Amino acid sequence: MIEKDVVVIGGGAAGLFCAIEAGKRGRNVVVLEHADRIGKKIAISGGGRCNFTNLHTSADNFLSANPHFCKSALARYTPTNFISLIEKHSIAYHEKKLGQLFCDGSSREVIEMLLTEAREAGVEIRCGSLVRNVSRSAPSPVERRSSLSFTIETEKAIFRAASLVVATGGLSIAPLGATDFGYRLARQFELAIVEPWPALVPFTLSRETLRQVGPLSGISLDALVSCEGRQFRENILITHRGLSGPAILQISSYWRPGLSITINLLPELDALQVLTEHENKEITLANFLSQVLPRRFVLAWCALNFPSQPLKRYTPRELAEIARKLNRWEVVPTGTEGYRKAEVTAGGISTAELSSQTMAVKKVAGLYFIGEVVDVTGQLGGFNFQWAWASGYAAGQAV
Ligand SMILES: Cc1cc2nc3c(=O)[nH]c(=O)nc-3n(C[C@H](O)[C@H](O)[C@H](O)COP(=O)(O)OP(=O)(O)OC[C@H]3O[C@@H](n4cnc5c(N)ncnc54)[C@H](O)[C@@H]3O)c2cc1C
Repeated sequence: MIEKDVVVIGGGAAGLFCAIEAGKRGRNVVVLEHADRIGKKIAISGGGRCNFTNLHTSADNFLSANPHFCKSALARYTPTNFISLIEKHSIAYHEKKLGQLFCDGSSREVIEMLLTEAREAGVEIRCGSLVRNVSRSAPSPVERRSSLSFTIETEKAIFRAASLVVATGGLSIAPLGATDFGYRLARQFELAIVEPWPALVPFTLSRETLRQVGPLSGISLDALVSCEGRQFRENILITHRGLSGPAILQISSYWRPGLSITINLLPELDALQVLTEHENKEITLANFLSQVLPRRFVLAWCALNFPSQPLKRYTPRELAEIARKLNRWEVVPTGTEGYRKAEVTAGGISTAELSSQTMAVKKVAGLYFIGEVVDVTGQLGGFNFQWAWASGYAAGQAV
């Protein structure tokens, strides 16, 4: 039996950060990670360059049943705080776009930074430690170490601790270590869960739609994509299986089965107005659209939808239909690529169960949930890591 002040389950971004902060406060901390090394998601994040935060982080960048819950933690540990840490470790970085900060070199630098900080804070990290079982004895007044209320079992060792932090992440990308352990533990302690769903994930399309858009496969273009009152202006990518690209990943988090998404291929233009202004011209539809859209896309799109001819030959009704398809292309995805491809898992431990100051479970003293396993999910662009750091920091001050 190994006695600790704090046991953290999960050696990802949130767990490590919490452990470091608790260690700095003099707490005796162990991180239990079942994979052979820590931070596997950090390693592959941001295309290998880790989009570690976003300068414009605010509560608006997160989905949650309670959109206010994340505010306290985000305010107490900000992107500026994390940037200071990155600079302390001389990690070169740059803003790619929209406030997204990436390493110039490699995500490994962020992992090395966390390992160094953990070492300096005296944190013990045990990889290859799959937590199988957790139990809690109600503290008794006569027990010698009454505060050691959690028993945490791995295949190799049994730990007792006063504080247990669950940082097991979501369900996305099982080969990187994802398990449902955090949700199971929540159920064991009778905590409410917002049913998880794959988010930041490509859409799949019906065979019929795929047959239609197949010739457009591989084309990426700037578009405004909307669903359920949310909209994102970034690139979309037409793939051989469906739709991807940043704008699609963003909207996928808000989509639910059966809903359609609307794609505006010409977000800067009122297509009906410009087509009507040119309705008597000799210029063909393809040449006209090639001024504002990639030519390869235009040729395939015209072949699919409206055989190209001089604009003056289209009837007003046809021009209206062309404009509608350009400004409001309605697509009903058949589904998403699921957890296999999802960058994050939305939903999770209900924030109603947690203190927004400390991430502590209100009805189970000493138990904390942080990071992606909680029902707080960031949009694309460094927000998920900022939530991992901020929620880890909040719990790290309290355990
Ligand atoms: C391909 C990809 C790219 C991404 N890129 C970015 C990006 O650039 N910027 C960004 O902000 N976000 C990005 N994300 C999302 C981000 O990686 C996650 O939101 C973040 O890592 C969540 O941190 P976490 O610590 O909560 O969970 P995780 O990082 O998932 O860590 C959980 C850890 O718990 C361990 N674990 C699970 N169950 C057990 C158990 N029973 N016992 C012991 N250990 C267990 C897992 O092995 C894992 O190491 C990306 C995600 C993916 C998949």
